[in-house]
Amino acid sequence: MTGSDTAGAQGAARIIDGKAFAEGLRARISAHVARMAEQGVTPGLAVVLVGEDPASQVYVASKAKQTVACGMKSFEHRLSADTSEADLLALIERLNADPEVHGILVQLPLPGHLNSDLVINSIDPAKDVDGFHISNVGLLATGQDALVSCTPLGCLLMLREELGNLSGLNAVVVGRSNIVGKPMAQLLLRESCTVTIAHSRTKDLGAVCRGADILVAAVGRPQMIPGDWVKPGATVIDVGINRIDAPEKGEGKTRLVGDVDFDSAVKVAGAITPVPGGVGPMTIACLLANTVTAASRIHGLPKPEDLSI
Ligand code: NDP
Repeated sequence: MTGSDTAGAQGAARIIDGKAFAEGLRARISAHVARMAEQGVTPGLAVVLVGEDPASQVYVASKAKQTVACGMKSFEHRLSADTSEADLLALIERLNADPEVHGILVQLPLPGHLNSDLVINSIDPAKDVDGFHISNVGLLATGQDALVSCTPLGCLLMLREELGNLSGLNAVVVGRSNIVGKPMAQLLLRESCTVTIAHSRTKDLGAVCRGADILVAAVGRPQMIPGDWVKPGATVIDVGINRIDAPEKGEGKTRLVGDVDFDSAVKVAGAITPVPGGVGPMTIACLLANTVTAASRIHGLPKPEDLSI
């Protein structure tokens, strides 16, 4: 499908299957890893977790499992919640120097006594597979080769697959965080979209959203974007992950929803990502893709074109 076809029939949005996209991406990653092994290179990802946050522990375990499943090396570093900044920085210095490590990820949020900016910016930018280092942010903003934040990268890969050429489309990104909203807007600008970034101070958000051929919601407010804010035929990417009560499933039960009211938006959009099963699965797959990209660069191997932008 091409960008000009976005004004499709109402009531028949395609569901963008992030799980299937992520599976396809992981298969390409595994193929690259196998080819790199023939050159004597095995990409390695080091994940650093400080503290015992249960959600972070689940993410880290899942990242390690998928890293190994794609044929890469996984190095886990679990540190106690009272780890000092000096000890954490010393670990990162060791990982920066370790030839077996091509990607370093420090799981956020960090405990309050640690300066996240300082910690992230101590990672070698060549190994910054989360794309949060100020150098990678600057490279992305100036249109140069960067390691790009995983969630927006996943969104862009899905949008390209879904729409083909994005040039000239109106894109609205709701949310301006450093990890999702801003890099997402930069990526869409790179694709020659006309980009609007909306946020909590935006006036008449509904009208802004209704102008979008591509609507990306990255807010963190359950179902805040109703179907009548969606332009008929638009492509909707819902980044939000919100847990809400689900009394219909039984007392005390909860369920995950996005920032978009899926039930009403699906009737208007041309294509839409569900929550769960949309953007979420692509995020870890893009982390692995970034690790392969980083390892390729570090060893002077060809850029894996189908894994990056
Ligand atoms: P942040 O809290 O850092 O940013 C939220 C943004 O939404 C801010 O820019 C804020 O504006 C804006 N905002 C808040 N309220 C409104 C409003 N009423 N109208 C318009 N804009 C508003 O969140 P993140 O970017 O980190 O995450 C956003 C969502 O994406 C969360 O649900 C998070 O869980 C999810 N997420 C999902 C990932 C995945 O893998 N699928 C990965 C990362 C995040 P302002 O700047 O003015 O305050």
